[in-house]
Amino acid sequence: MSLFFNITAGYDLAQRVVKSVHGLRGFYDYTEPIFSLVDEKFLTLAAKPHKWTILHAFLLDFESESLESEYDALPLCENIDFFRGYLKMTGMLLPDWLSESEIERHSDLLRNLINFAIHKATISAFQILFNDREFLFEFNILIRQAIDDDVKYKNKKWFNTNGYLRRPTYIPKWLEKAVYHRDKGRCQACFKDVSGVIFQFNQYHLDHIIPLYDGGINDPTNFQLLCRECNLKKGKKEQKPSNQQVSFWDISIA
Ligand SMILES: [Zn+2]
Repeated sequence: MSLFFNITAGYDLAQRVVKSVHGLRGFYDYTEPIFSLVDEKFLTLAAKPHKWTILHAFLLDFESESLESEYDALPLCENIDFFRGYLKMTGMLLPDWLSESEIERHSDLLRNLINFAIHKATISAFQILFNDREFLFEFNILIRQAIDDDVKYKNKKWFNTNGYLRRPTYIPKWLEKAVYHRDKGRCQACFKDVSGVIFQFNQYHLDHIIPLYDGGINDPTNFQLLCRECNLKKGKKEQKPSNQQVSFWDISIA
């Protein structure tokens, strides 16, 4: 397990994905791959929480796609600054053969190295985007669109008679802990402390941001912490999550 991730590489990929998912055209538009991801593997991920989430799969696909054109430069040495820059940004050491005279003979090694860097960028961007519940909401709306009636018809085993994914039989402890720590032990609707440290009777629920009966999925990207009261009040409604974060810097205090 790696406790660390590279925040610079994460931001670079995360900001392009945020713009794309929010539909800011003319920048990058790779939301199309989300629809091409909908296969048996995708539905396995949607049916039950996995550590390799649909967002990981999407980020990897997005970045692989966006870097593909970088290999088109012929000869490869024309683009050597890009490859060097990308490897540096993802915190990787530059190999000796990454020189103008050697790069051509090492094109396979270059692919492997860049693929490894893309993997690192994916893991890092996930850490940033998993904090952005507004983004997660938009991302899950795209997923809901991608799982259309045709997909449901062809893959009946994953869905109940109403066409919704089934509730998982249990929520893994690692997911509960990740969401709890991400949301800092606070209800994400009323921001009440539900950690139990101060007041033991505030209960928390792991809420599906887009409810299952509204076409939501069981991927970790679709969960947030709510207090019992806010969760019951939310009921079956679709409710855009708050993107407020607990501040650690206050300029109003001298
Ligand atoms: Zn609440």
